[in-house]
Amino acid sequence: MAHQTIRTLYHYINGEKVVGRSGRMGDVYNPATGDVCAKLPLASKAEVAQAIQVARDALPAWASTPPLQRARILMKFRELVLQHQDEIAQTMSQEHGKTLPDSLGDLTRGLEVVEFATGIPHLLKGDFCENVANVVDSYSLRQPVGVCVGITPFNFPAMVPLWMFPIALACGNTFVLKPSEKVPTTSLLLADLLTQAGLPHGVFNVVNGEKEAVDALLTSPDVAAVSFVGSTPVGEYIYRVGCEHGKRVQALCGAKNHLVVMPDADMNQVVDAIIGSAYGSAGERCMAISVVVPVGEETAQRLREQLIPRIQGLKIGAYTDKTVEMGPLITAQHLQKVKGYVDIGVQEGAELVVDGRGVQVAGGEKGFFLGGCLFDHVKPTMRIYLEEIFGPVLSLVRVNSYAEAVQLINVHEYGNGAAIFTRDGDCARNFTHTVNIGMVGVNVPIPVPVAYNSFGGWKRSLFGDHSIHGAEGVHFYTRLKTITTRWTTGLRGAQFHFKGGS
Ligand code: NAD
Repeated sequence: MAHQTIRTLYHYINGEKVVGRSGRMGDVYNPATGDVCAKLPLASKAEVAQAIQVARDALPAWASTPPLQRARILMKFRELVLQHQDEIAQTMSQEHGKTLPDSLGDLTRGLEVVEFATGIPHLLKGDFCENVANVVDSYSLRQPVGVCVGITPFNFPAMVPLWMFPIALACGNTFVLKPSEKVPTTSLLLADLLTQAGLPHGVFNVVNGEKEAVDALLTSPDVAAVSFVGSTPVGEYIYRVGCEHGKRVQALCGAKNHLVVMPDADMNQVVDAIIGSAYGSAGERCMAISVVVPVGEETAQRLREQLIPRIQGLKIGAYTDKTVEMGPLITAQHLQKVKGYVDIGVQEGAELVVDGRGVQVAGGEKGFFLGGCLFDHVKPTMRIYLEEIFGPVLSLVRVNSYAEAVQLINVHEYGNGAAIFTRDGDCARNFTHTVNIGMVGVNVPIPVPVAYNSFGGWKRSLFGDHSIHGAEGVHFYTRLKTITTRWTTGLRGAQFHFKGGS
């Protein structure tokens, strides 16, 4: 593979690229080659404080800018992102490893939130009640919360930040984003395009870093709200510390998404759905299917027979090869962790039907590649079933009845997504009604809500009261104010009137 030059990255504060001053730098990898492709400054507490101060200073003018003017900047931003989408997708694929079409999809789903946010004048309209008492009127409106923070994961470098800041900005807040240190460049490119679109300096800022930067954001008295997307242990910490410091917090976390296959399901459709949703983006999606639950032995057998050749035939490689279906994992450490889970599954007694550990990728010998893996006869007590693996490792858990499948889902600690494949409307209706899961699919394996609905799981997949984007996003990034007015009739005597009537 071609030699990559190593870029030196920066923070983005007050409309400018800012060189890191902490003296600490991190490595950003190209996971397909295993090479470092960029050096990233890791912000100190003082650098984070500077970004927060800038966002705080920019707040009054931005909060009082008419919503339609704020929306017009987002319209311009959308155009600019589309003009630069190929460059952004290249960067995403280089740092993340996902295929180019997948990176473009990541960006497109994020842009849909921008499109939603451009409707903010309508979304911010309040309620008015006339004459709630004698000459008393009452109305409610929503105002920005203040300086908002986003802390984002590696797996969607564009979409997840875009779940947050377009709505926060449209609502009149200012923003400090701390993107994943593994895939930082996309956020820096987006920040620059916001400035080009006419966003006033200081309204949107990016600080790069790790725990030190996150802790500085979480404990600052000048931060009003924190949106987090990432793993459950970190999200639980963010939620607790953020709340202790008086912030509004939403933390969207880990997952173990089940797909139930009923005996009447269209098996070709099921297999296509599983291949895309379990192995697309190397299984590094919070809505990836990681557990398939065939109902009945015959269903399990048919499914297994069709799945095996498809998994063995997955085309694995670098994003630079357009024929590739699945890229590498994000880091060498994560590769070891996922391989470790495969070892654990074997030790626990599950049957490893397809073993992707020996995969060879020409030119990618140092890359973080793992082939698709399939376990059968996985039991609900096994760690490979209970824990989030976040890689291309799929478990088949065989059950004898629909009720058993629903019970499995409902007692699992995670509640992000679940799907059922069936031709039976009664069964599908019962499933959508019964499962304690935030996002449910019927013959749809990855039921990701669109921008004008809201995205969020249940149980330990989400801490906080609000899902993200859509109406829930507008609520999260605004505070309700209710005003009650009484205008006495005394002034009326002083007014001059046209004489009505005759
Ligand atoms: P992660 O939790 O390791 O990191 C997320 C963010 O938290 C990063 O910005 C990181 O720098 C920061 N962070 C990491 N450790 C920290 C610590 N100890 N203290 C403070 N901050 C810390 O997650 P990841 O590996 O980047 O992403 C994968 C995870 O994200 C998976 O668990 C996946 O399910 C989850 N995810 C969830 C959703 C959802 O909507 N529910 C969406 C995408 C990803």
